Amino acid sequence: MLLREPGRLEPAELPDPVAGPDDVMVEVAACGVCRTDLQIVDGDLAMRRAPLIPGHQVVGRIAGEGTRVGVAWLGGADGSCRLCLAGAENLCENGEFTGWTRDGGYAEKVVARRDFVFPLPEGLGDLQAAPLLCAGIIGYRALRVSGIRPGGRIGLFGFGSSAHLAIQVARHWGCDVAVFTRTPDEDALARELGAAWVGGYDDAPPQPLDAAVTFAPVGDVVISALRAVGRGGTVAVNAIHLDRIPQFSYDLLYWERSLRSVANFTRRDAREFLDLAAEIPVSATVEEYPLERAGEALGALREGRIRGSAVLRVS
Ligand SMILES: [Zn+2]
Ligand SMILES: [Zn+2]
Repeated sequence: MLLREPGRLEPAELPDPVAGPDDVMVEVAACGVCRTDLQIVDGDLAMRRAPLIPGHQVVGRIAGEGTRVGVAWLGGADGSCRLCLAGAENLCENGEFTGWTRDGGYAEKVVARRDFVFPLPEGLGDLQAAPLLCAGIIGYRALRVSGIRPGGRIGLFGFGSSAHLAIQVARHWGCDVAVFTRTPDEDALARELGAAWVGGYDDAPPQPLDAAVTFAPVGDVVISALRAVGRGGTVAVNAIHLDRIPQFSYDLLYWERSLRSVANFTRRDAREFLDLAAEIPVSATVEEYPLERAGEALGALREGRIRGSAVLRVS
């Protein structure tokens, strides 16, 4: 599926991509559909190359080897800039991104850097493993960025693909989880997955939160989250693109509350999360679409009609 320009995602027949000496060719089995894909397809995020094959939650097998691997959003880092050297390759000044600066997994084959693919735990089907690769890993990083401690009170604002995986990690850590949603379907899934309290974006939780993660792609929700955290609490914004954050009273930030964004992930985050996901085990709720119906999957995501994660079945 080729994005020729924003708003124009079309089926295409292309020659096989060419793997360089440091790359592997991955035969794609499934690819998760992420909100970031939607933002690229809709033009909310500027295209970094055109045409482009989107998709960055790729499960497949290395051609000629058969090893099952995941290809995720972080497609490369230079390893030499000050941020990489400080262990923050997620912030690399020359970072590469699957399905944005490199072709991604809405395709039968994808080329990836050998040192940026991840072996996947066994016991998880291809479709179930796909959402772990962005929704899962970055949700995990967002929990870490929020500073939540085992047994603490965490709020999740929005309950889509990433949050429905993050809650399973938070519950594994013994956290008390408050979920803020906008639809009855999201409420029901949150309760099934162990939320202690479920309310609307602007409802007050029973007690102030120690930390919150916002997943909904709207800036208003950031204000709601600041209002819900107690003194010293952190709000982590898990979004690559937000409309805007409205002006708010300094009182919401005072008492050493923190507001932080979450950008990408490191390979260490990915390995930690995938190990943890196998141990818990994390279970993704998946809605399956064939590859050629990627546009429909994105439309359903745009309209908030996906329960859990949408995944494209490729082979
Ligand atoms: Zn770097
Ligand atoms: Zn993503």
